Formats: sequence, C-alpha cells, structure tokens
Amino acid sequence: MQAIVLREPGGPDQLRLESLPEPQARPGGVVVRVHAEGVCFRDIVERRGGFAFIKRPVVPGHEWAGEIVAVGDGVEGFAVGDRVVNLHRAACGRCESCTAGHQMRCRRALEVFGLSVDGGYAQYVQAPVGCLVPLPAAIPYAQACFLNCTAGVALRALRSVAALQPGERVLVTGASGGVGMHAIQVARALDAHVIATTSSAAKREALLEIGAHEVVVGEPGELHRAVKRATAGQGVDVALDCVGTPTLNASLRALRAGGRLVVVGNVTGERWAVNPGFLILAELQVFGSAGCNRDDLQQVLAWVEQGRLRPVLQQVLPLSAAAHAHRMLESQAVTGRLVLDPWADAATVK
Ligand SMILES: [Zn+2]
Ligand SMILES: [Zn+2]
Repeated sequence: MQAIVLREPGGPDQLRLESLPEPQARPGGVVVRVHAEGVCFRDIVERRGGFAFIKRPVVPGHEWAGEIVAVGDGVEGFAVGDRVVNLHRAACGRCESCTAGHQMRCRRALEVFGLSVDGGYAQYVQAPVGCLVPLPAAIPYAQACFLNCTAGVALRALRSVAALQPGERVLVTGASGGVGMHAIQVARALDAHVIATTSSAAKREALLEIGAHEVVVGEPGELHRAVKRATAGQGVDVALDCVGTPTLNASLRALRAGGRLVVVGNVTGERWAVNPGFLILAELQVFGSAGCNRDDLQQVLAWVEQGRLRPVLQQVLPLSAAAHAHRMLESQAVTGRLVLDPWADAATVK
C-alpha cells in the first residue's frame, strides 16, 4: 500500500511516500481502508521531533475515516463494510479513569495513532476496536475524519472541563484554525455567546459566518484589550485557548474574576511564564483538556447529521501532497482543515 513514512524528524520533506506491506487484522482489531485523513498541527509537532516517545519510522495521522475491510478474532459489534471514524486511542473501558467517564486519562491506552502506532497517512490502518466509532452514512468521509480532533476536542473542553453554562461568554483564540472554527459552532450549540480572536483580518468574515457573535482581530498578546472593550470591561466567563503560549496571558487577562481558562492548543511548544499574583487576585481557574471521549464524538456526529454543526473542510489533497499540506498549515494558509485522500492519486503514484 501507499503510505507517508516519517523516518527522521525535520522539515516537510521528511514526509516520504513509500510502499509498505498492507497491515493485517490482529485479535481485537480491524483493518480500515482509509478514505480521508485530517492534517493536524500535532502532525507538524511530531514531524519536527516534538514528541520524544514517537516510534521511528512512523506513519503519521490520528484523524482518519474509512471502511472496515478485515476483522480480527474476538471482534464484536463491527463488521467488514462498516463506516468508521477513530478516537485518538482505544481506552480500556475498565480502569478508574474510564469508568469515571475520562477515557483520555486511561493509562492502559498506549496505542496512539501517529505516535506509538502507525496512523492514517496511508491507504490502510490497523486499529484496535476500542477506538472505533460508527460513522453515519449521511456524513462524507472527508468531513468526518477530523471531527474527533476539532469539534470533539472543543466539546470535551467546553462541556466537561469548563462546565460551560448557557448564556456564558466564551473566548476562542486562534479561531480560524481547525479547532477554533469548530469550537465556535460547539459553543453556539451549547448556547454560549462567542467572541472569536484571530491575527488575520482576512479571516474575520469566515468567523462571523460560522457563528461567532463578535470577532477580535489583533496581535496575539494584546487580544484581551479588545475583548474587555467588547464586554464593557467585564471579561469572558470561559477562554478556550487553541494557540498556547503566544495567547495564554491574553486569554487569562480576558477573563472575568473567577473565570476559567481551558488550554487545548500548544502550537509553539514554548514554556509559559505566568504571574501567580494575577491568578490569585482574580481567583482564576486554569485547566488542560486532552482529546475527546466517545460520547463527545458521538454528539458531534449527531449534530453534523442534524445540520447543527458544519465540518469546515478547506481542501482535499492526494496523499503525495502531504508535505505541501504541512507547508500550507505552517504558513497559516488554512481555514478549518486540510484532508488527505490516500486513494486520490493511487492511479498515478505507484
Ligand atoms: Zn489532530
Ligand atoms: Zn482505562
């Protein structure tokens, strides 16, 4: 099969199209023919060498959708021909974290696509059955593949971690990115008032069109000033930070006293310097939120089916254009998600 293989960390040119043996179904697992794979900023962090525990070589990709073509021994509930999307990893379902509803905290789920096991930058992916979620027929693969890592992440962060209440004001930073464009819609679905921020004035219209009540354009470190103006000096109840260190202090300063900051983005990987006095005096709460649970992704898929959430897909590219896709994402030329189709150029790239 055709696959993108990362052998050494480095620039986009390290993403090489290679011919690999097709994976076989293992006990408790399936093989999925990948029809679509999202290109996520985490893929870039992985490619640059940001994860010490990544296996090498590795096939990147943790946002795939496709059709089951082989089923291993002991698999129940899934069959050949089923349409599926993936969770980031397969939680055990039995440990303390899993039974408390926090599958992302499961310490027994060691298979992480694109890091410890091969991912979806390939024509086929081998997957444990615990990471599979059925995909309704009405949702195309290219629109479904990235929902776990965009709308699902936003839903877990806002609903479960920040305990967002109807009518509360939410700030979304880096709003034109993949998580941001879906977070705006998720926050609207949860009946919040949404203020979106972006560093690019050209993206203002797209953010309003997708559902932001207000859009603030400006330097990442100064966004709180405009947010405070937009809220008559009060600040927001919840800030969902999709960027990381460049915007984190502005997100904190945009909060009302007692407000909640949820961190889901870490684009630069830099350390974050924070003034503890600011946290203390304003009694701010800071949370991290990782990935999404099964019920988050199922809710997101239901909203898409009902027309309440629109997957924001910029473009579908062939697998051979993976390096090009990374360069586009690195140069901030993407609104929403880019998607790879591993079969688009199968006829020309052997
Ligand atoms: Zn992702
Ligand atoms: Zn578990």
